[in-house]
Amino acid sequence: MNPQPISERRRGWCPGVRRPMETGDGLLVRLHPFGGRLTADQARLIAGAARENGNGDLDITARGNLQIRGVSEESHPELLALLEREGLAEPEGDGPNRLTVMSPLTGPDHGDVLDLAQEIEDRAVPLHGLPGKFFVTVDDGGPMPLDALGADLHVVATGEDFAIAFGSAEPKGLQWIGTASPVRADDAILFILADFAQMRIEGRTRARRLRDLEPALAAELAASAELSPATPPLERPSAPRAGSFQIRHGHAVLLALPFGRCSAAQLDQAAQWSERLGQGEIRLSFTRGILVPGIAGEHVLTLLAEASRAGFITDGDDPRLSLIACPGRQGCGSALTPAPADALRIAESCADILKDGAILHVSGCPKGCAHPGRAELTLVGREDGRYDVVPNGSTRDAASLHLSVDDLMTRLLPLATLDDLRRTFAEDAQ
Ligand code: SF4
Repeated sequence: MNPQPISERRRGWCPGVRRPMETGDGLLVRLHPFGGRLTADQARLIAGAARENGNGDLDITARGNLQIRGVSEESHPELLALLEREGLAEPEGDGPNRLTVMSPLTGPDHGDVLDLAQEIEDRAVPLHGLPGKFFVTVDDGGPMPLDALGADLHVVATGEDFAIAFGSAEPKGLQWIGTASPVRADDAILFILADFAQMRIEGRTRARRLRDLEPALAAELAASAELSPATPPLERPSAPRAGSFQIRHGHAVLLALPFGRCSAAQLDQAAQWSERLGQGEIRLSFTRGILVPGIAGEHVLTLLAEASRAGFITDGDDPRLSLIACPGRQGCGSALTPAPADALRIAESCADILKDGAILHVSGCPKGCAHPGRAELTLVGREDGRYDVVPNGSTRDAASLHLSVDDLMTRLLPLATLDDLRRTFAEDAQ
């Protein structure tokens, strides 16, 4: 055990089990299980630890990691010892805590994908020079594409081969660089990662993400992998956030959580469903929910009904899935407003617009941690408790109005469509 003195930790690091991050509700401890997979016993153990050593709240992140919130300086050593003993602590060192993200639907039928992801973890995590936030998506090519995750390297199974792309600053703007057979894919990817790490060590670049790498160096990396010509995979619809999927052995049920926030009781409950109705395993999803695989067809409706009563979102059209909010005042010392609670209140007044495709981003301050990009409506918390209103922009853009939650709800209530929203706030800006 080698816990870093908490006084030496600061914001901006990727937190882990050994290096928690200070937040408004105490220390945040992030676990990085491979593939987001947890046995029911592990999930129950983590839920118990969140109650004992934290404040009972957990988050599922957009990379399928699990965060225990509200840990104290005093309770952290006991939590660290427990998670180390159970094999749930990340490797020591300053590199990425986990390099790969997979679809939660990736299962035993996708042996090549699982093997490749494991190989990348085993061989690349020990590399020196890879930045902490660097990650690789290993995509099974199925109904939950990982294109929009913003990874450094995207690897997609196309049937025969793996197609490989560099990430880009544009959403979904992947730069396909070639394909590799399952036999060669691990070496090809390792060449790219090792060469990028070496470029950083030698001072040839200061880029921390592949998307920021100078074009000539990016071309050098692509050449080092000795790939076959690129054949980009077919475009797929965006990943569903909730509902059931038919898989080869039964069904899988994806349960969503508003803002990814999960109570210890909900995690316990998911573990219990996986044992009673599934195969004793849950998978944390990059959609910030929990997937329960191996459900027999006749149990799907039972699980969906019980999960809905337990506070999970089970319908992919639920308007709460169109909300983005940072932890707000409850979980961040910089927050000026209770962003998640306000977002849920505001959503009650604009369910139709959210169903029509609008994204509502509520941020506790201008930093915009939860969503750096634009949204149809962005609300930025102010010191007076009201919100700066930014239609069709991000937290960095100029506001057209400053409104209280009640005034916002009054304005949103009569609107039925995305066009109504655009028109209303465009008029206000004039
Ligand atoms: S956006 Fe501001 S309030 Fe929200 S988590 Fe980031 S720093 Fe905290």
